[in-house]
Amino acid sequence: MNNCEKYRGLLVGLLDRELNPQETVEINEHLVRCAGCREEYERLRDTSGKLEAVSFEEPSDEILRRLWRNPFSRLARIGGIFLIVAGYAALICYALFQFFTSGKENFWGKVPIAAIGIGFLILLLLVILERVKSYGKDPYREIKR
Ligand SMILES: [Zn+2]
Repeated sequence: MNNCEKYRGLLVGLLDRELNPQETVEINEHLVRCAGCREEYERLRDTSGKLEAVSFEEPSDEILRRLWRNPFSRLARIGGIFLIVAGYAALICYALFQFFTSGKENFWGKVPIAAIGIGFLILLLLVILERVKSYGKDPYREIKR
């Protein structure tokens, strides 16, 4: 395998979970095929003491991609996005609450929190306005059920 040199350099990164998802998939695919690199990986893993830090059974991007393509996961996806947005909103609210209630925090700690909070509120406002606008134009609005 002529790619071994390249992958050998990435093995430490794999052990330390410093590779991006693309690299992780590539190197895992290579490790499955290449006994030499697999041995090297296991040797590194044993000597670094980071046992079971990364295993071949770790959910790969391929699994995520398959899940993403599955139409039945659409609802879960929407739910997931909603949870992320809701969680983020809650976090922002909490941060803003902290921001306004604690007077002792230092100024430079407050600036980014205020910036994120204000930015989020602006985006939220835009989304709401967009929703209200499209609701106004919705031709099915008057249909009685
Ligand atoms: Zn190899």
